[in-house]
Amino acid sequence: MKETKEFLAESQELLNLMINSIYSNKEIFLREVISNASDAIDKYKFAALTESNKLPILDYKIEIIPNEKERTIVVKDNGIGMTKTELIDNLGTIAKSGSKEFLSKLKDAKKSDDISIIGQFGVGFYSCFMVADKVEVLTKSPFETTAYLFTSDGKKNYTIEEAQKDNNGTIVRIYLRKDEKDGVQYGEYLHEYKIRELVKKYSDYIRYPIVMDVKKREPKLDNKGQSIKDEYVESIESETLNSMIPLWKKSKKELKEEEVNEFYKNKFYDYENPLTYLSLHVDGRISYDALLFIPSHVPYNLYSENYEKGLDLYAKGIFIQEKCKELIPDYLKFVKGLVESNDFSLNISREMLQSSPLLKRIEENIEKKIVDKLTDLKEHDYEKYLSFYKNFGDHIKFGIYSTYGAKKDLLQDLLLFKTLKHGDEYISLKKYVEEMSKEQKEIYYVAGKNLEQIKMLPQLDSYRQKEEDVLLCDHEIDDFVIMMMNDYDKKPFKNISMVDAKTPSEEEKEKIDTLIAENKRFIDNVREALKEDVDEVTFSLDLVNAPVCLKTKDGLSMNMAETLNNDPTRKEGEEVKAKKVLEINPNHQLFQNIIKVQNDEETKMYAKLLYDEAMLLEGIDIKNKASFVKRLNELLLKAIGE
Ligand code: ADP
Repeated sequence: MKETKEFLAESQELLNLMINSIYSNKEIFLREVISNASDAIDKYKFAALTESNKLPILDYKIEIIPNEKERTIVVKDNGIGMTKTELIDNLGTIAKSGSKEFLSKLKDAKKSDDISIIGQFGVGFYSCFMVADKVEVLTKSPFETTAYLFTSDGKKNYTIEEAQKDNNGTIVRIYLRKDEKDGVQYGEYLHEYKIRELVKKYSDYIRYPIVMDVKKREPKLDNKGQSIKDEYVESIESETLNSMIPLWKKSKKELKEEEVNEFYKNKFYDYENPLTYLSLHVDGRISYDALLFIPSHVPYNLYSENYEKGLDLYAKGIFIQEKCKELIPDYLKFVKGLVESNDFSLNISREMLQSSPLLKRIEENIEKKIVDKLTDLKEHDYEKYLSFYKNFGDHIKFGIYSTYGAKKDLLQDLLLFKTLKHGDEYISLKKYVEEMSKEQKEIYYVAGKNLEQIKMLPQLDSYRQKEEDVLLCDHEIDDFVIMMMNDYDKKPFKNISMVDAKTPSEEEKEKIDTLIAENKRFIDNVREALKEDVDEVTFSLDLVNAPVCLKTKDGLSMNMAETLNNDPTRKEGEEVKAKKVLEINPNHQLFQNIIKVQNDEETKMYAKLLYDEAMLLEGIDIKNKASFVKRLNELLLKAIGE
């Protein structure tokens, strides 16, 4: 019985796009169909080897059969096929995450020229409808006795009916559209040379033979074995069109950048070429081949909960597992790629695989190779490295932080920071240390929300004056990583927002004590006014332009406290509080004037205003805005009134 079904809405949307596509790179349809055929054989092969369902081992191949008379091109595989339910689930809906991303991108853009990105996405089976006005899929699963035929014109509906097919596998028959007058010549895809070219271009690495019957024309020979002029014999021969060497097995020299890029985009659903790739062939205590990619942009779902990190795992030419997460450390989760090792046994269970020490060793090796590659980029292609760092620098920091500093030695030289002296340029810790004067013993840093805010911090003024450089940390994770690192090249890190960043000399101490003693009434008033807000009020001899400055003590900065308190997993009532110290600039005119004020309440009001001002410079919101405004207005009235 023939059933007619409607495509799901999102499929209809994509199909509509495909049918009306003015996109010129329609040829990618063949790559998509072949790639599905290859995946299907992978699945069959795996099932035949590992499960007790006694599937016979077959002579795996993908056949391409063009038929000029019928204007059809057939792609046939002897893979896993589809059951009726699978057929509906897989072809009636959009399976590919790449297609979904493509659709949402397109919706965002809504510009007709954005259609050009179609070919850069792995848009899957539906891409057939860029060249076809009808597609039939005849398929049989080895787990079901009946075969099914799916037919669709790619518009609203498709039909499914029982059909005749003896062996497992799938036959996709694509009915090519009529050639357009002065337009696209769809008939071209029927030509041997064109098919050969497309297979070479997009599917050369497919590990099963892609075969096609080709006409061979050879000179006719006379009975002496000499060729007769202008006379030929024609025969049909089956020819394998692809080299079948998977890209990850090819040596670095053999790899062509273009094919690697195409492979990456198609396999990992990216619309941009990777930033860089690594082709690894390791032979020793462990042996494996791998092809790894660093994306050139942050994957759209990297920070979503359902992002799965991992590398695809193959063993002895057989696909074992998609996104095997044991192969890549968490902090490198943005790396995509695949690994093949002959050291795994094929019928290893998933549980055993997960705990395999071999995986761990490969992971460690891969991690090291990636770090080497990044180091190499940093040294030899700095522009590229910068682009990497802007996208994924925080992940490197996370690598140090999440391992409690265990990976510090491995990763610290990959870090870059903006600094006080270097403006918008990033520099490495090595460079910072090289530029330190002999007297400077510590690496100074300061953290905040963004560079603009950080640069306004009053505690930076004295470093500007002394021409000492300070790392400007504008990422949430920075404070935490630096704390975890403790030092670099034996130079300890010092947060200049901490009171203990600098130990005052005896002379300075004495000066401060005298100041406090001489201005006791003033200091007492300030302490009283801010007793809820700060732990300590004192003088600083390092302030230049600002009247006051807020610092913290005992290791927890305001920035860190805020990050910790914003953590959604923090329990109610477990807020942390940074211990704040208000430092007053004794040389500032404001101080000189305030101490002349006789009214204690008025002094307290100034203290509160100065505190709020310091909080603002720290990039922290004033808690009680109403009383801030009230105080400010009172003061304005006074000033204008006078
Ligand atoms: P993708 O291949 O990325 O999953 P497609 O739209 O190309 O997306 O295909 C959807 C699904 O249809 C595939 O995941 C697969 O399960 C199934 N499929 C497509 N072609 C074949 C085939 N030749 N043999 C078996 N299953 C297939």
